[in-house]
Amino acid sequence: MSRIETVVIDGLALAKEIRSELAAAVARHVDSGVRPPKLAVVLVGEDSASASYIKGKRRACKSVGMESVECDLPTTASEREILGTVEELNADSGVDGILVQLPLPGGIDTNRVTGAVRPDKDVDGLHPVNAGRLLLGLPCLTACTPLGILEILDRHEIPLEGAEAVVLGRSNIVGKPVALLLQQRNATVTMCHSRTRDLAARCREADLLVAAVGVPRLVKADWLKPGAAVIDVGVSVVEGVLTGDVDTEGARGIARIVTPHRRGVGPMTITMLLRNTLQAYEARLAG
Ligand code: NAP
Repeated sequence: MSRIETVVIDGLALAKEIRSELAAAVARHVDSGVRPPKLAVVLVGEDSASASYIKGKRRACKSVGMESVECDLPTTASEREILGTVEELNADSGVDGILVQLPLPGGIDTNRVTGAVRPDKDVDGLHPVNAGRLLLGLPCLTACTPLGILEILDRHEIPLEGAEAVVLGRSNIVGKPVALLLQQRNATVTMCHSRTRDLAARCREADLLVAAVGVPRLVKADWLKPGAAVIDVGVSVVEGVLTGDVDTEGARGIARIVTPHRRGVGPMTITMLLRNTLQAYEARLAG
Protein backbone atom coordinates (compact mmCIF):
# COMPACT_ATOMS: atom_id res chain seq x y z
CA MET A 1 0.00 0.00 0.00
CA SER A 2 1.40 3.42 -0.94
CA ARG A 3 2.10 5.91 1.82
CA ILE A 4 -0.30 8.82 1.96
CA GLU A 5 0.93 12.41 2.21
CA THR A 6 -0.74 13.42 5.48
CA VAL A 7 -1.64 17.05 6.05
CA VAL A 8 -1.10 18.03 9.70
CA ILE A 9 -3.65 20.73 10.38
CA ASP A 10 -2.39 24.08 11.61
CA GLY A 11 -5.35 25.03 13.79
CA LEU A 12 -3.66 28.21 14.91
CA ALA A 13 -3.14 29.51 11.37
CA LEU A 14 -6.75 28.67 10.52
CA ALA A 15 -7.92 30.35 13.73
CA LYS A 16 -5.95 33.50 12.86
CA GLU A 17 -7.52 33.58 9.40
CA ILE A 18 -11.03 33.38 10.87
CA ARG A 19 -10.21 35.87 13.61
CA SER A 20 -9.19 38.43 11.02
CA GLU A 21 -12.58 37.94 9.34
CA LEU A 22 -14.28 38.39 12.73
CA ALA A 23 -12.19 41.48 13.52
CA ALA A 24 -13.25 43.03 10.21
CA ALA A 25 -16.92 42.35 11.03
CA VAL A 26 -16.55 43.88 14.51
CA ALA A 27 -14.77 46.93 13.05
CA ARG A 28 -17.62 47.46 10.57
CA HIS A 29 -20.13 47.58 13.43
CA VAL A 30 -18.00 49.90 15.56
CA ASP A 31 -17.38 52.20 12.58
CA SER A 32 -21.13 52.46 12.14
CA GLY A 33 -21.34 53.88 15.66
CA VAL A 34 -22.51 50.93 17.78
CA ARG A 35 -20.68 49.48 20.76
CA PRO A 36 -18.48 46.40 20.24
CA PRO A 37 -19.69 42.89 21.22
CA LYS A 38 -19.09 41.85 24.81
CA LEU A 39 -18.50 38.41 26.30
CA ALA A 40 -18.94 37.71 30.01
CA VAL A 41 -17.15 34.76 31.58
CA VAL A 42 -18.16 33.37 34.96
CA LEU A 43 -15.42 31.57 36.86
CA VAL A 44 -16.17 29.82 40.12
CA GLY A 45 -13.17 28.82 42.24
CA GLU A 46 -9.49 28.90 41.53
CA ASP A 47 -8.85 26.00 39.15
CA SER A 48 -5.56 26.93 37.46
CA ALA A 49 -6.45 25.31 34.11
CA SER A 50 -9.76 27.22 34.03
CA ALA A 51 -8.00 30.48 34.93
CA SER A 52 -5.55 29.96 32.07
CA TYR A 53 -8.39 29.18 29.60
CA ILE A 54 -10.10 32.40 30.69
CA LYS A 55 -6.93 34.39 30.13
CA GLY A 56 -6.82 32.94 26.59
CA LYS A 57 -10.44 33.94 26.02
CA ARG A 58 -9.79 37.49 27.23
CA ARG A 59 -6.82 37.82 24.88
CA ALA A 60 -8.85 36.35 22.01
CA CYS A 61 -11.67 38.87 22.55
CA LYS A 62 -9.21 41.74 22.51
CA SER A 63 -7.58 40.44 19.33
CA VAL A 64 -10.84 40.91 17.39
CA GLY A 65 -11.94 44.14 19.06
CA MET A 66 -14.52 42.57 21.38
CA GLU A 67 -14.88 43.45 25.04
CA SER A 68 -14.83 40.87 27.81
CA VAL A 69 -15.72 40.90 31.46
CA GLU A 70 -14.90 38.30 34.10
CA CYS A 71 -17.09 37.51 37.06
CA ASP A 72 -14.97 35.64 39.58
CA LEU A 73 -16.73 33.86 42.42
CA PRO A 74 -15.01 31.99 45.27
CA THR A 75 -14.98 28.17 45.44
CA THR A 76 -17.35 28.52 48.39
CA ALA A 77 -19.99 30.32 46.28
CA SER A 78 -23.43 28.74 46.63
CA GLU A 79 -25.50 27.66 43.64
CA ARG A 80 -27.85 30.55 44.45
CA GLU A 81 -25.00 33.07 44.25
CA ILE A 82 -23.83 31.64 40.94
CA LEU A 83 -27.38 31.76 39.57
CA GLY A 84 -27.65 35.35 40.84
CA THR A 85 -24.56 36.32 38.84
CA VAL A 86 -25.93 34.64 35.73
CA GLU A 87 -29.25 36.49 36.19
CA GLU A 88 -27.45 39.84 36.41
CA LEU A 89 -25.59 39.12 33.19
CA ASN A 90 -28.82 37.93 31.53
CA ALA A 91 -30.41 41.29 32.38
CA ASP A 92 -27.41 43.40 31.31
CA SER A 93 -28.13 44.75 27.82
CA GLY A 94 -24.42 45.51 27.38
CA VAL A 95 -23.54 41.79 27.53
CA ASP A 96 -24.05 39.68 24.40
CA GLY A 97 -22.56 36.34 25.36
CA ILE A 98 -22.28 34.50 28.68
CA LEU A 99 -19.98 31.57 29.29
CA VAL A 100 -19.86 29.68 32.56
CA GLN A 101 -16.42 28.10 32.81
CA LEU A 102 -16.69 24.36 33.48
CA PRO A 103 -16.14 22.31 35.51
CA LEU A 104 -18.01 23.92 38.41
CA PRO A 105 -17.04 22.95 41.96
CA GLY A 106 -18.59 19.76 43.36
CA GLY A 107 -22.09 20.12 44.75
CA ILE A 108 -23.16 22.64 42.10
CA ASP A 109 -25.74 21.44 39.58
CA THR A 110 -24.01 22.20 36.28
CA ASN A 111 -27.13 21.69 34.16
CA ARG A 112 -29.07 24.07 36.37
CA VAL A 113 -26.43 26.78 36.00
CA THR A 114 -25.86 26.40 32.24
CA GLY A 115 -29.64 26.16 31.80
CA ALA A 116 -30.04 29.52 33.58
CA VAL A 117 -28.15 31.42 30.86
CA ARG A 118 -30.49 33.20 28.46
CA PRO A 119 -30.58 31.08 25.29
CA ASP A 120 -29.78 34.08 23.10
CA LYS A 121 -26.61 34.73 25.16
CA ASP A 122 -25.65 31.05 25.47
CA VAL A 123 -22.42 31.15 23.46
CA ASP A 124 -21.44 27.67 24.69
CA GLY A 125 -24.59 26.18 23.13
CA LEU A 126 -25.40 24.20 26.27
CA HIS A 127 -28.88 25.54 27.04
CA PRO A 128 -31.62 22.96 26.34
CA VAL A 129 -33.23 25.41 23.90
CA ASN A 130 -30.08 25.59 21.79
CA ALA A 131 -29.37 21.86 22.14
CA GLY A 132 -32.97 21.14 21.12
CA ARG A 133 -32.87 23.53 18.16
CA LEU A 134 -29.67 21.85 16.97
CA LEU A 135 -31.42 18.49 17.17
CA LEU A 136 -34.30 19.88 15.09
CA GLY A 137 -31.96 21.47 12.56
CA LEU A 138 -33.08 25.01 13.46
CA PRO A 139 -30.78 28.06 13.71
CA CYS A 140 -29.15 28.23 17.14
CA LEU A 141 -25.99 28.91 19.09
CA THR A 142 -23.95 25.69 18.81
CA ALA A 143 -21.15 24.34 21.01
CA CYS A 144 -17.79 25.79 19.99
CA THR A 145 -15.59 22.69 19.59
CA PRO A 146 -18.00 20.98 17.14
CA LEU A 147 -18.23 24.22 15.13
CA GLY A 148 -14.44 24.40 15.04
CA ILE A 149 -14.22 20.81 13.81
CA LEU A 150 -16.67 21.50 10.97
CA GLU A 151 -14.70 24.60 10.03
CA ILE A 152 -11.46 22.56 9.87
CA LEU A 153 -13.13 19.95 7.67
CA ASP A 154 -14.70 22.53 5.36
CA ARG A 155 -11.59 24.62 4.96
CA HIS A 156 -9.70 21.45 4.00
CA GLU A 157 -12.46 20.39 1.63
CA ILE A 158 -13.13 17.07 3.33
CA PRO A 159 -16.24 15.59 1.70
CA LEU A 160 -18.93 14.87 4.28
CA GLU A 161 -21.87 13.88 2.09
CA GLY A 162 -22.22 10.10 2.33
CA ALA A 163 -19.00 9.78 4.37
CA GLU A 164 -18.78 7.19 7.14
CA ALA A 165 -18.16 9.36 10.21
CA VAL A 166 -17.29 7.77 13.54
CA VAL A 167 -17.49 9.93 16.65
CA LEU A 168 -15.82 8.64 19.81
CA GLY A 169 -17.47 10.18 22.88
CA ARG A 170 -21.03 11.31 23.54
CA SER A 171 -20.64 14.37 25.76
CA ASN A 172 -23.09 17.28 25.51
CA ILE A 173 -20.27 19.66 24.64
CA VAL A 174 -18.47 17.68 21.91
CA GLY A 175 -19.67 14.19 20.94
CA LYS A 176 -23.43 14.75 20.63
CA PRO A 177 -23.37 18.13 18.87
CA VAL A 178 -20.60 17.15 16.44
CA ALA A 179 -22.53 13.99 15.53
CA LEU A 180 -25.63 16.10 14.82
CA LEU A 181 -23.69 18.61 12.71
CA LEU A 182 -22.13 15.80 10.67
CA GLN A 183 -25.51 14.16 10.20
CA GLN A 184 -26.95 17.49 9.01
CA ARG A 185 -24.21 17.48 6.40
CA ASN A 186 -25.34 14.02 5.23
CA ALA A 187 -22.53 11.97 6.76
CA THR A 188 -23.51 8.54 8.06
CA VAL A 189 -22.64 8.88 11.72
CA THR A 190 -21.76 6.15 14.21
CA MET A 191 -21.44 7.28 17.82
CA CYS A 192 -19.17 5.26 20.09
CA HIS A 193 -18.67 5.44 23.85
CA SER A 194 -17.21 3.51 26.75
CA ARG A 195 -19.59 0.55 26.23
CA THR A 196 -19.04 0.21 22.48
CA ARG A 197 -17.86 -3.26 21.48
CA ASP A 198 -14.80 -3.54 19.24
CA LEU A 199 -13.97 0.13 18.92
CA ALA A 200 -11.05 -0.66 16.61
CA ALA A 201 -13.37 -2.27 14.03
CA ARG A 202 -15.70 0.78 14.13
CA CYS A 203 -12.77 3.14 13.63
CA ARG A 204 -11.44 1.14 10.69
CA GLU A 205 -14.69 1.90 8.83
CA ALA A 206 -14.31 5.66 9.30
CA ASP A 207 -13.69 8.07 6.43
CA LEU A 208 -13.84 10.66 9.17
CA LEU A 209 -12.89 9.96 12.77
CA VAL A 210 -13.56 12.42 15.60
CA ALA A 211 -12.02 11.33 18.90
CA ALA A 212 -13.37 13.20 21.95
CA VAL A 213 -12.77 10.78 24.78
CA GLY A 214 -9.94 11.97 27.02
CA VAL A 215 -8.08 8.64 27.02
CA PRO A 216 -4.49 9.24 25.91
CA ARG A 217 -3.59 7.52 22.64
CA LEU A 218 -6.65 5.30 22.72
CA VAL A 219 -6.80 5.25 18.90
CA LYS A 220 -3.89 3.32 17.44
CA ALA A 221 -2.45 3.88 13.98
CA ASP A 222 -3.71 0.48 12.79
CA TRP A 223 -7.28 1.50 13.70
CA LEU A 224 -7.26 4.11 10.94
CA LYS A 225 -8.65 3.65 7.46
CA PRO A 226 -6.13 4.79 4.85
CA GLY A 227 -7.09 8.27 3.66
CA ALA A 228 -9.27 9.03 6.68
CA ALA A 229 -9.67 12.54 8.08
CA VAL A 230 -8.72 12.33 11.76
CA ILE A 231 -9.75 14.96 14.29
CA ASP A 232 -8.23 14.51 17.73
CA VAL A 233 -10.12 16.54 20.31
CA GLY A 234 -8.73 14.83 23.42
CA VAL A 235 -6.49 16.70 25.79
CA SER A 236 -4.65 14.76 28.49
CA VAL A 237 -1.38 15.40 30.25
CA VAL A 238 0.81 12.32 30.56
CA GLU A 239 3.97 12.78 32.61
CA GLY A 240 3.85 16.50 31.92
CA VAL A 241 3.32 16.05 28.16
CA LEU A 242 0.16 17.13 26.36
CA THR A 243 -1.34 14.03 24.74
CA GLY A 244 -4.42 13.46 22.61
CA ASP A 245 -6.76 10.51 22.07
CA VAL A 246 -5.02 9.47 18.85
CA ASP A 247 -1.53 8.25 18.04
CA THR A 248 -1.14 11.20 15.71
CA GLU A 249 2.50 10.42 14.91
CA GLY A 250 1.46 6.93 13.81
CA ALA A 251 -1.35 8.45 11.75
CA ARG A 252 1.15 10.16 9.46
CA GLY A 253 1.36 8.32 6.18
CA ILE A 254 -2.09 6.77 6.75
CA ALA A 255 -4.53 9.63 7.36
CA ARG A 256 -5.42 12.28 4.79
CA ILE A 257 -5.49 14.97 7.45
CA VAL A 258 -4.81 14.85 11.17
CA THR A 259 -5.03 17.48 13.92
CA PRO A 260 -2.02 17.70 16.24
CA HIS A 261 -2.27 17.83 20.05
CA ARG A 262 -1.04 21.38 20.11
CA ARG A 263 -2.41 24.02 17.76
CA GLY A 264 -5.06 21.65 16.47
CA VAL A 265 -8.66 21.85 17.63
CA GLY A 266 -7.98 24.10 20.67
CA PRO A 267 -7.43 27.44 18.88
CA MET A 268 -10.49 26.76 16.72
CA THR A 269 -12.68 26.22 19.79
CA ILE A 270 -11.85 29.67 21.16
CA THR A 271 -12.33 31.23 17.73
CA MET A 272 -15.80 29.72 17.47
CA LEU A 273 -16.57 31.24 20.88
CA LEU A 274 -15.78 34.63 19.34
CA ARG A 275 -17.93 33.80 16.32
CA ASN A 276 -20.83 32.79 18.55
CA THR A 277 -20.46 36.03 20.51
CA LEU A 278 -20.61 37.98 17.25
CA GLN A 279 -23.66 35.95 16.19
CA ALA A 280 -25.42 36.70 19.50
CA TYR A 281 -24.49 40.39 19.22
CA GLU A 282 -25.71 40.71 15.65
CA ALA A 283 -28.98 39.00 16.59
CA ARG A 284 -29.41 41.56 19.40
CA LEU A 285 -28.65 44.45 17.04
CA ALA A 286 -31.23 43.10 14.59
CA GLY A 287 -33.64 43.17 17.56
P1 NAP B 1 -16.41 13.69 28.67
O1 NAP B 1 -17.61 14.50 28.99
O2 NAP B 1 -15.55 13.14 29.75
O3 NAP B 1 -16.88 12.49 27.72
C1 NAP B 1 -15.98 11.49 27.34
C2 NAP B 1 -16.70 10.52 26.44
O4 NAP B 1 -15.76 9.52 26.06
C3 NAP B 1 -17.86 9.80 27.09
O5 NAP B 1 -18.95 9.75 26.21
C4 NAP B 1 -17.31 8.40 27.38
O6 NAP B 1 -18.27 7.36 27.27
C5 NAP B 1 -16.32 8.24 26.27
N1 NAP B 1 -15.26 7.29 26.64
C6 NAP B 1 -14.51 7.28 27.76
N2 NAP B 1 -13.63 6.27 27.73
C7 NAP B 1 -13.82 5.61 26.57
C8 NAP B 1 -13.24 4.50 25.95
N3 NAP B 1 -12.25 3.81 26.54
N4 NAP B 1 -13.70 4.11 24.75
C9 NAP B 1 -14.68 4.78 24.13
N5 NAP B 1 -15.28 5.88 24.66
C10 NAP B 1 -14.86 6.27 25.87
O7 NAP B 1 -15.40 14.48 27.75
P2 NAP B 1 -15.54 15.77 26.78
O8 NAP B 1 -15.89 16.97 27.58
O9 NAP B 1 -16.34 15.44 25.57
O10 NAP B 1 -14.02 15.88 26.33
C11 NAP B 1 -13.35 14.82 25.70
C12 NAP B 1 -11.89 15.18 25.56
O11 NAP B 1 -11.78 16.32 24.72
C13 NAP B 1 -11.19 15.56 26.86
O12 NAP B 1 -9.85 15.15 26.80
C14 NAP B 1 -11.27 17.08 26.86
O13 NAP B 1 -10.23 17.67 27.62
C15 NAP B 1 -11.09 17.36 25.40
N6 NAP B 1 -11.68 18.64 24.93
C16 NAP B 1 -10.89 19.42 24.16
C17 NAP B 1 -11.40 20.59 23.65
C18 NAP B 1 -10.55 21.44 22.76
O14 NAP B 1 -10.94 22.54 22.43
N7 NAP B 1 -9.38 20.96 22.35
C19 NAP B 1 -12.72 20.97 23.94
C20 NAP B 1 -13.51 20.13 24.71
C21 NAP B 1 -12.97 18.94 25.19
P3 NAP B 1 -19.52 7.20 28.27
O15 NAP B 1 -20.51 8.23 27.81
O16 NAP B 1 -19.96 5.82 28.06
O17 NAP B 1 -19.00 7.49 29.65
